[in-house]
Amino acid sequence: MKISTEKDYYKILGVKKNDKTKDIKTRYRELARKYHPDTNQGSKKSEETFKRISEAYEVLGNAKNRKEYDSLRANGRRHSTGRPSGNRNESYSDPFDFGRQYTRQGPRESQQDPFSQPPFADETVMDPNMPSRGFDLQFMVKVPFVVAALGGQIPYTYEKHVTCPECRGSGTDDYEEPCTVCRGKQRVVETATLDIDIPSGVADQYTLKFPRQGGAGRNGGPLGDLMAKVCIEKHPHFKKIKTDVHSVVTISPKLAEEGGPLEIQMLDSTTTIHVEEGTLTGEEFRIPGAGSTQPWGKKRGDFVVKFQIDENSEK
Ligand SMILES: [Zn+2]
Repeated sequence: MKISTEKDYYKILGVKKNDKTKDIKTRYRELARKYHPDTNQGSKKSEETFKRISEAYEVLGNAKNRKEYDSLRANGRRHSTGRPSGNRNESYSDPFDFGRQYTRQGPRESQQDPFSQPPFADETVMDPNMPSRGFDLQFMVKVPFVVAALGGQIPYTYEKHVTCPECRGSGTDDYEEPCTVCRGKQRVVETATLDIDIPSGVADQYTLKFPRQGGAGRNGGPLGDLMAKVCIEKHPHFKKIKTDVHSVVTISPKLAEEGGPLEIQMLDSTTTIHVEEGTLTGEEFRIPGAGSTQPWGKKRGDFVVKFQIDENSEK
């Protein structure tokens, strides 16, 4: 008696996992009549189908075999090493299998900084025929200082599950055999891109949510979401304090003493300010409304220049 856990005998017979043995028997008889080689004039396809339903019934029609099959299938889904399969290539690895590696699918530059939280454990549902929701994907997105202050878009490339285009998510081919493209998993991994809108003034570590941009579900289950945790990059010259942006600018002792015009770099533009006569290190010059935007607001803070007198400064 051969029990193949690769095959979904319930699906082959078109019965439910909790159907009674006598209902399975009735269903089998129905199918057997329809596909019996004697009544199909040697049709190859019917013969194949007949073999498959017979094999399925041998397992599901017998309480002991059925119990063993159910338990093997359940274990095979939960433990990769315990997968009771003779013909599966052991080195094959679907990064989404059992949801272990997926937090490493984040942006290339932030791989060392996984925003680690395991995916939803929908995949471990006992009943393989139940609809399951796709994975929620989470990652960190590095946002340049200026983009975080003023808003903008960051193109992001990531990998996610999509419904298998070959079998359209059924997991099986026309002959009820596991689909060769997705290996019966109903989904394949695909590279996707998303332009992430960064709201102006977004706070560091804030999580942006993109509904239905995560992985595809199974058995008609809904798509997961995608969550992007904002990681604002440090700027070499600017520092944000609430909505104000501070910048330390070195000036020569001569300019500090005599005063005069000085061109400075602000967030997204340059401007010329007037340094007052007798300026000291640590003194500030404030440009109202040239700082960072309030989160989801329009009002901007100030741009604050902090002078530092330096003998080597060329300004
Ligand atoms: Zn497929």
